[in-house]
Amino acid sequence: MNYKTIDDIEVNNQRVFLRVDFNVPLTKEAPYKITDDTRIRAALPTIEALLKKGAKLIVASHLGRPKGKPEEKYSLKPVFEHLKELVNAKVTFASDCIGPEVEKLADALKPGEILLLENLRFHPEEEKNDPAFAQALAKLADVYVDDAFGAAHRAHASIEGITHYVNVKAAGYLMDKELKFLGGVLTNPAHPFVAIIGGAKISGKIDVIQSLLGKADKVLIGGGMTYTFLKAQGKEIGKSIVEEDKTDLAKSLLEQAQSHLVLSVDSVVAREFKNDAEFKTVSVNEIPADWQGVDIGPETIRLFTKEIANAKTIVWNGPMGVFEMPNFAKGTLAIAEAMAKATATGATTVVGGGDSVAALDQAHLADKMSHVSTGGGASLEFLEGKTLPGVKALEE
Ligand code: AMP
Repeated sequence: MNYKTIDDIEVNNQRVFLRVDFNVPLTKEAPYKITDDTRIRAALPTIEALLKKGAKLIVASHLGRPKGKPEEKYSLKPVFEHLKELVNAKVTFASDCIGPEVEKLADALKPGEILLLENLRFHPEEEKNDPAFAQALAKLADVYVDDAFGAAHRAHASIEGITHYVNVKAAGYLMDKELKFLGGVLTNPAHPFVAIIGGAKISGKIDVIQSLLGKADKVLIGGGMTYTFLKAQGKEIGKSIVEEDKTDLAKSLLEQAQSHLVLSVDSVVAREFKNDAEFKTVSVNEIPADWQGVDIGPETIRLFTKEIANAKTIVWNGPMGVFEMPNFAKGTLAIAEAMAKATATGATTVVGGGDSVAALDQAHLADKMSHVSTGGGASLEFLEGKTLPGVKALEE
């Protein structure tokens, strides 16, 4: 990856367009309040560094999925209110992201000040990567900085298009950190390299499994996709979640990579899909016909924990069970703990994907990992080996 970072460019007295991922969760009802500001905090090192270097900062983000027109519930106003609390700088808010009024505000900025723009997706041209819209954004600034790793898999105007109309472009610290950790895992991992893949379905993860099978020493499979693999082995899986049309694929993966794929040996099964349902642990050879698999069992936890303890690099995406239900969160939490221990003894641990990150937060273990990715979709696509449009656009 060949891109500049903000340490390589001159920003003093320059108008800097900083694309961030402030796509934060808000309360469902007005007055809209931020319920988790992780993504805003993740961009603070870049914001603070640019301000310190004398930049006139124009900060832009999308929030939610408005349908190309202004909607109060997707406004960045609550972000503006919160950002003012987090930074020691003058912050103003523009009620749009392009146009003469916004240009006036951008031109009036002094070094060390911030102008936060309204939601980029209030214009349908953002997601269409419309060149005229990209040019209108570029017109606001002299320098472009992208710190929105969580949106790097989208070829949108503020991520891709805009880079064609600026002379100077660079990655922010968050973008750089994400790419260094995820890139390091893929290009130069210390071995043994173990990947843990979970989640509901195999269909969303097949590319990442295939990509990691070519690189990792072991790929541990947990979560709902386990049962498609077990079915492919001809086992009874009861009422467990399964993708019938993916059993051939699962079979061929098992044949190709038998020695690298590690499947569950036991499973927690429940009578119904609810937390207070009756449940028990069974061998994967003995799943009863009218029960369903909801978590990995204790033997599997032991097996996976041993692989994790021996590893020097571990990447994890997707929960091991229905972790939203406390009775079925044990497997996921045990993996989080095993990863924390491995980090403490020198392994590099990287966690990507919204649900595994939520599980880490639940276990208060997020700060015990080498790196927790802020981008679910982007980190998955990166691990699949795809070129992210946002990264390509930053490269020379
Ligand atoms: P994904 O978005 O593919 O990472 O899937 C995350 C979801 O998978 C979570 O909401 C989990 O509840 C769900 N999940 C994990 N294990 C199972 C399982 N055994 N049966 C059904 N859903 C599961």
